[in-house]
Amino acid sequence: MTGKKGELLPRQAMQQLLDLLYPPRCAGCQRGGYVLCPSCLARIPPLTFICQRCSAPLSPGGICSSCQSAPLKLSGLRAVSAYQEPLRSYIHALKYDGNTRLAQPLGMLLAQAYHTLGIRADGIVPVPLHSERYRQRGYNHAALLARVCATRTTLPLFENMLIRHRATLSQVGLAHWERQQNVQGAFSCAPAYANGQLRGRAILLIDDVSTTSSTLEACAAPLFAAGAATVYALVLARPGS
Ligand SMILES: [Zn+2]
Ligand SMILES: [Zn+2]
Repeated sequence: MTGKKGELLPRQAMQQLLDLLYPPRCAGCQRGGYVLCPSCLARIPPLTFICQRCSAPLSPGGICSSCQSAPLKLSGLRAVSAYQEPLRSYIHALKYDGNTRLAQPLGMLLAQAYHTLGIRADGIVPVPLHSERYRQRGYNHAALLARVCATRTTLPLFENMLIRHRATLSQVGLAHWERQQNVQGAFSCAPAYANGQLRGRAILLIDDVSTTSSTLEACAAPLFAAGAATVYALVLARPGS
């Protein structure tokens, strides 16, 4: 389900070859031998004082105003850290600069957060990219993160459970309601999973950043419709709203 036919080299062998030809440098401090060195990793602090539902920043121990007025359809949204430096640059490099090796340390942060935040799931599903954007970029950064997270947590990975029907506008600069409109109905559950296997299951969605949670909510809807009992989302970064 996750392997691709026709690959010249298995993904791992290819990565080892690339590491040999282009030894990694820390994306934070340029130190050789690391994709992200331990001291740069330690500069990504866990979130404190956040909404218990959606992880929006907050004064201690409560639920944010947007969760009070419009409760999340997601069972919960969890984040590794805030959307700030240096994490912001690492995410940008993974997503737009082709530094796909960063998926390894960043995916490990997701796996650590899965355990420390007490999330429970039966399977991991990355937020899909639209096929057009996938062709432009050559990879889905969320899928790369989800692979690492699934390996480290030993949870099954379902890369093709969600289908993205349309390329949505960039969410940047859109108001909350515009973002909801923009992504509503953009995703569906693949037919192979839509006939009962998800009944009672706990699904964990993975993405890099969640600003308003609209995309994650739009992903959760068809999974709930297919019978999922809970759909949590885990992201690297949650910007302040
Ligand atoms: Zn470093
Ligand atoms: Zn909230």
